[in-house]
Amino acid sequence: MPSVPSYWSPRIAALEPYVPGEQPRIANLIKLNTNENPYPPSPEAIEAIRRAAESRLELYPDPESLALREAIAARHHLDAAQVFVGNGSDEVLAHAFFAFFQQAEPLLVPDVTYSFYRVYAQLYGIACELQPVDEGLRIDDRALAKRASEGCAGIVVANPNAPTGIGLPLARIEALLQACPGRVVLVDEAYVDFGGESAIPLIARYPNLLVVQTLSKSRSLAGLRVGFACGQAHLVDALQRVKNSFNSYPLDRLAVAGAVAAIEDERWFARTRRDVIDTREGLALQLEDLGFEVLPSQANFLFVRHPGRDAGELAAALRERAILVRHFRQPRIAQYLRITVGTRDQCAALVDALGNILGG
Ligand code: PMP
Repeated sequence: MPSVPSYWSPRIAALEPYVPGEQPRIANLIKLNTNENPYPPSPEAIEAIRRAAESRLELYPDPESLALREAIAARHHLDAAQVFVGNGSDEVLAHAFFAFFQQAEPLLVPDVTYSFYRVYAQLYGIACELQPVDEGLRIDDRALAKRASEGCAGIVVANPNAPTGIGLPLARIEALLQACPGRVVLVDEAYVDFGGESAIPLIARYPNLLVVQTLSKSRSLAGLRVGFACGQAHLVDALQRVKNSFNSYPLDRLAVAGAVAAIEDERWFARTRRDVIDTREGLALQLEDLGFEVLPSQANFLFVRHPGRDAGELAAALRERAILVRHFRQPRIAQYLRITVGTRDQCAALVDALGNILGG
């Protein structure tokens, strides 16, 4: 084992950081590996960012990001005091883990799910108890609820789940909320706009519900880094305390301006999201024709495996053809590829390439 510099604190020495999907520097790759939206953001958002760049960047932004919290609140029929915003939903999740899950009991986390959850838990010294997904890679919400009723630090679920794309119906989320009184159930809805069911309407009835969303996926703003959490005001208060102890100005003036305009442009949102959903359904059928098993997805990606072929080798063969998809090495999902839904042309190129690879 390489020696650890004496300057490092022991927790840093033990930390296994998240490994993000590749962000290549070469242009002309078909990039279907990190679940970005293939369409650009709303032209209104780009114009708002341009205008913001021309007005008073020498000043700090509003530390409360009130304009954005009000825009999000208006869209979801909430009050701005029920909305927290941060620098990407990754940062919002980090603050939520810090604020709510440092408890004596373990945090309940499905296995498999978004691997950043375990990184935050490790960073903050939170013990995780992993709840295996079932044979169909579905979250076993009944087992989670049963375990939660025995006492826990809280529950975190992605809905739809990542990297499977499988959604949980709202009634199941409600059962988790009821099984976990006094502790937070964090529902990460990064992909919900592509066909999932949001838990935001349950906020009024459940003081333990925190819903996290992002503008990186359905609003095409991964490059701007804006995420948010919705919950009752007492949860948002806790998040604001963490934020003010960490970075009082997480969102800059450009991000707030662009995000507000993107949220208000319902037409662009509806059109691009419909395109992604339609393309996903067409791609799923084409992949099935090529012999892939395709899990039912409510997200902007498909999780697929080919019974006859090694997934790592397929990913490598696609890479040679300048197409990037995501392959995970965890044993439970090592036979699968996660493929982001691209434009129709990108998906046609992918299907062509796979046809060649499988036929050859
Ligand atoms: N949650 C899930 C389930 C994700 O897949 C991602 C994207 N990798 C995120 C949160 C973070 O997204 P962002 O920080 O871009 O908002």
